[in-house]
Amino acid sequence: MAMMTGEQYVESIRKMDIKICMFGEKVSSAADHPILRPSLNSVKATYDLAQKPEYADLMTVKSHISGERINRFTHIHHSTEDLVKKVKMQRLCGQKTASCFQRCVGWDSFNAIFSTTFECDQAHGTRYHKNFLDFLKEAQEKDWTADGAMTDPKGDRSLSPSKQADPDLYLHVVERRKDGIVVRGAKAHQTGICNSHQVVVMPTIAMGSDDRDYAVSFAVPLDAENLFMIIGRQSCDTRKLEGGTLDVGNCEYGGVEALVIFDNVFVPDNRIFLNGETDFAGILVERFAGYHRQSYGGCKAGVGDVLIGAAALAADYNGAQKASHVKDKIIEMIHLNETLYSCGIACSSEGAVTASGNYLIDLLLANVCKQNVTRFPYEITRLAEDIAGGLMVTAPSEKDLRDPKLGPYIDKYLRGVASVPTETRLKILRLIENLTLGAAAVGYRTESMHGAGSPQAQRIMIARQGNIERKKQLARDIAHIK
Ligand code: SF4
Ligand code: FE
Repeated sequence: MAMMTGEQYVESIRKMDIKICMFGEKVSSAADHPILRPSLNSVKATYDLAQKPEYADLMTVKSHISGERINRFTHIHHSTEDLVKKVKMQRLCGQKTASCFQRCVGWDSFNAIFSTTFECDQAHGTRYHKNFLDFLKEAQEKDWTADGAMTDPKGDRSLSPSKQADPDLYLHVVERRKDGIVVRGAKAHQTGICNSHQVVVMPTIAMGSDDRDYAVSFAVPLDAENLFMIIGRQSCDTRKLEGGTLDVGNCEYGGVEALVIFDNVFVPDNRIFLNGETDFAGILVERFAGYHRQSYGGCKAGVGDVLIGAAALAADYNGAQKASHVKDKIIEMIHLNETLYSCGIACSSEGAVTASGNYLIDLLLANVCKQNVTRFPYEITRLAEDIAGGLMVTAPSEKDLRDPKLGPYIDKYLRGVASVPTETRLKILRLIENLTLGAAAVGYRTESMHGAGSPQAQRIMIARQGNIERKKQLARDIAHIK
């Protein structure tokens, strides 16, 4: 079975014994809890869309290992065309879910580890690339969703991993056995990990020689022994417990983050992709971050499309669609959104082959892409709120709308243009609320700032990749300075 249907994916997650804690209780499965189910639905969409003939070219691809058709989310990029299609596919998935569909993180880890293990083996005589290829083969055959886990809690930011007061603030090897290693630590902010099959762990920063035990990368199944997670809160999350869909805004989809604890987890030898080679920790981080910064040029543009559409509908329902300032605000939103997409396409088109044979994006352009993502969705959000009006945060609940006595008053007084039912207007305002400051704001707003690295991380890369010396020489040449 090279590709699962959405339903098969849901069943496969339901069967796993993933240890999830929320509100102090154990949750039996992400598939059956109203707060978690929208997150699972978003990933389910990546399976459902791959079944549709009209999206086959974007959503599926021939595996370079088996020659079988696979879901693109498990593919190794073998051309700039693959990189471009990745971004287009992410935009499509963003448009269809209006949330984080999560699967890109694991996919980005696949491509980063593919080239890094190849080069590490050449430098150190290790066998990590073979380990990774075996894992990848299974991931493609079983159509796994993998969570790519990079972000350690990091404790005191001025200290390196091995100098922290608590040695577990970065995930590390605590025991080396004949048949594998035992690791302890945590990964924070893991979107979608509660509905993933595997977790692929990577180091979070470049490491020095003292940090050998922290330079570790591996994969384990989510139901591994001693691995558990604590779900993070989101704004308005308990609205999902109220029944109904009006107040949640996005009726079906979402994303959920968790703090994942590795409390002495055993990793067998054949699933280790890095183990002490500190000189490759930084390379792995840089490549993964680069791929994920490219990803944002696709997914955020797709979600942005939905938000722009919602803002335009809100204007229609208010009767404000012909006002010149409203038209101009929508033009501005489109301009900003397409700029993000352009950056995603540009860093993909300018990609280049690595020693392992897969393709890496242009790192400077990928970092410029993500730097723009730390700003533009905030402006798009501001403009959407401007157009929507204050009602998006003051409207009464769905329960009051359904109340036989109160409902008619809400219907009468909160109507915009006479031809559009009040409920329709409220649905769009709630969707804007969801995207700008509700549960999905994690994926569209704050994640735009901090996901794939906070703004300063991109500025460091831009400084490194920007080749300022060459620019100085260009200026000297023009000004005839010897
Ligand atoms: Fe994919 Fe975007 Fe979510 Fe990252 S933030 S996993 S790129 S949808
Ligand atoms: Fe992300």
